[in-house]
Amino acid sequence: MSLFLSKKALSISPSSTLAIDAKFKSMKAKGIDVVGFGAGEPDFDTPAHIKEAAIKAINEGFTKYTPASGMPQLREAVCRKFKRDNGLDYSPEQIVVSNGAKHSLVNAFMAICDPGDEVIIPAPFWVSYPEMVKMADGVPVFLNTSEENNFKFTVEDLKKAITAKTRALVLNSPSNPTGMVYSREELKEIAEVAVQNNIYIISDEIYEKLIYDGMEHTSIATFGNEIKDLTIIINGVSKTYAMTGWRIGYTASNAKIAKVMGNIQSHATSNPNSIAQVAAIAALDGPQDDIEVMRKAFIERRDYMVDRINSIEGLSCSKPQGAFYVMMNIKSILGKEFYGRVITNSDEFADVLLEKANVALVPGSGFGAEEYVRWSYATSMQNIVEGLNRIEKFIKKEL
Ligand code: PMP
Repeated sequence: MSLFLSKKALSISPSSTLAIDAKFKSMKAKGIDVVGFGAGEPDFDTPAHIKEAAIKAINEGFTKYTPASGMPQLREAVCRKFKRDNGLDYSPEQIVVSNGAKHSLVNAFMAICDPGDEVIIPAPFWVSYPEMVKMADGVPVFLNTSEENNFKFTVEDLKKAITAKTRALVLNSPSNPTGMVYSREELKEIAEVAVQNNIYIISDEIYEKLIYDGMEHTSIATFGNEIKDLTIIINGVSKTYAMTGWRIGYTASNAKIAKVMGNIQSHATSNPNSIAQVAAIAALDGPQDDIEVMRKAFIERRDYMVDRINSIEGLSCSKPQGAFYVMMNIKSILGKEFYGRVITNSDEFADVLLEKANVALVPGSGFGAEEYVRWSYATSMQNIVEGLNRIEKFIKKEL
């Protein structure tokens, strides 16, 4: 018997971040003293008032299907959020609520890609973008950036990457994995190029609240009606409210696009979890103070991590301005022997490090950044100190 699998399915690679997290968790379950920096989720608990809203929803029997694109009250709360935080006017029919921002992104690519359409993805990129584009029969086209340019592309780079087949550009500011943030001026220029070439912007703004050093988040949709119509904003409650497990994401877009995404979702999953939707209303409409507590903790951790990495000979990193990741440069380690193994790429580095030092970092290969590994500082200061102590010993070959 031969088991047939589609070419498309076979072309999709597994998520390297989830893989490293799974490896870390299984080592931990075996009692190994391993420190993990793979997870892209806040280590804080979901705020109490959000949990209480969900418990109340269960007790009141709010346990049935809702409209596929989300309950009207939540879509209204999302509109209030866009007005309050981003100065953007949307109406509920422009909002689609999905099972996490990942699902929102998949809906967006499905809605806009015909087979062979190109989607420009700046590299380093979040691992899932290229695979999602492929799932929608699109073709990922990578736009390389360098650490010298703060991992940001210029409009000149963008113009060169645009072809007759370009359908969209993925923008992720603050970025996973680099933590870099595009300024207002940069975004305005990108918006002009998008409008001139009639290409969509998939603007993933999931880390908008985790932004540091006086930087401010600007949504690219704010630069006029034309770019607003071409932008599909992706956001959700996972990172801002420490709600990764609840699975609520949402989009804001032109109503025509929202309708199409809603149609797709209505057949694929129906509505997102009804109880989590009620919790999301409490998150968006309730007190926002917990965000600041998390943000302050992230700043403290980032500063410590960046200073320590840059103090270790052979390693370096730039200071990220948002999200909760640090890209560590391992260029001067590559080609050298560590503990009997010559390390030639980021996978090997992560592998030897995990084996010898019991520290789990994510190799840059999955992010299109072979000479880097990614740390997440969404973990306790205690873990961060321990992880850095271990890596310092590892690099000094003292293990
Ligand atoms: N976009 C980016 C850039 C992310 O890092 C993540 C989570 N790792 C997501 C989207 C997905 O978030 P959600 O939990 O809402 O699916």
